[in-house]
This record gives sequence, C-alpha cells and structure tokens, in this order.
Amino acid sequence: MKEVTVTSNTMEIQFPHGRQLRLLIGDITRIRVDAIVNAANSGLRGGGGVDGAIHRAGGPAIMRELDEIRAKSGGCPTGGAVVTSAGALPAKYVFHAVGPVYRDGQHGEPELLASCYRTCLDLAEERDVHTIGFPAISTGVYGYPVADAAGIALEIISAHLNREETKVREVLFVLFDKSAYDIHVNRIR
Ligand code: ADP
Repeated sequence: MKEVTVTSNTMEIQFPHGRQLRLLIGDITRIRVDAIVNAANSGLRGGGGVDGAIHRAGGPAIMRELDEIRAKSGGCPTGGAVVTSAGALPAKYVFHAVGPVYRDGQHGEPELLASCYRTCLDLAEERDVHTIGFPAISTGVYGYPVADAAGIALEIISAHLNREETKVREVLFVLFDKSAYDIHVNRIR
C-alpha cells in the first residue's frame, strides 16, 4: 500500500527505499532539482508554454547547445529527448522531451507520450540525476487530454520509482494550474 500525504497544494507519494513522487502547483523554472524536463518540439527551436519559460529563465546558452544538436542530428524524434545544460537555471540539466501532438489517441500518442517519460528517466539514470522535475508534457498546445496524459505519466514514473535499482530519489511533477493539479491528484486517489 502506497503512503500518500496531502497538504493544500502538494501531494506526496512514498515509494520503496525512501523515494518519492511529489505533485505540486508551480512554475517548473523555479524548482530546485538536478534535471528539469522541457516539453520541446522536434525542431528543438523553442516555443511558447513551458519551452518559452525555460529558455527565458535559462538564458541563451541552452539554445546554443540545441543549435549544435540540431546541426548534428536535425532535431529530436517524437517520443525522444535530448540533453543540454540548464544555463542560468538552478539545475544541472534540461532534458528536452518531444511529446506527441494529440489527434485522436489512435495514432500512437499514448506510446509516444510514455516514451518521453521513459526516455527522461533513463537519461536521469545515465547522468546520475537524483531529483527530476516534469511538466505535463503534451497537455498544452499539443492538446493531449490532461486526464489521459496524467494516467500515462503517473504510471511510468511510479513504475520507475518502484524499481529495485534506481538513482532517482525524487520526482517533482509540476502542474501549472489548480485544475491540472486536481486532475493529476484524482488519478492517484
Ligand atoms: P506541449 O506543446 O507539449 O503541449 P506546453 O508548454 O504548451 O507543451 O504545455 C505543457 C504543459 O505545461 C501545459 O499543461 C502547460 O499549462 C504547462 N506549463 C506552461 N508553462 C509552465 C511552467 N512555467 N511550469 C510548469 N508547467 C507549465
């Protein structure tokens, strides 16, 4: 039985070996973690939403690194992620994950969204990331229904925190507003 603690604006779920998942309302550029996940686009060219906020707060160094990655590989496929430093942000890395644009759920969107979360958690293992912050990938401009996306995200993150071996101690799931937060909380209850 998982242990859940709820305060007014946060929910904490305890996993084996002292690991935890924390859901909160906030701005992902303001949290202190080893790695922040960005909801990027496959061109890695920056955009609005969480992407714009990360580039504004992190400064131009992040885009310079993305320019180099783009020059070598042409971008990042949907469901994947690339790594840069975090510029002026209080993190070591930004993992730029490319979520699917939602059409009707019948075009591989669930698998692609799951792949984003899995790829970022695998990158966390590779880079010795102990704390990582996720936004709700694809639920903004990309139109993924929030409750469906929440189910996928929470399943992948929980499976990772239940692993026998992982370097990840804490996952922060940062929801931008109360309604997205409530939908995620209801997915856990
Ligand atoms: P996508 O193109 O993948 O849908 P968006 O950036 O448009 O990405 O939205 C993803 C989610 O991130 C949305 O739920 C949006 O409300 C949220 N969001 C936007 N800005 C921030 C921020 N600064 N911190 C955390 N979440 C944010």
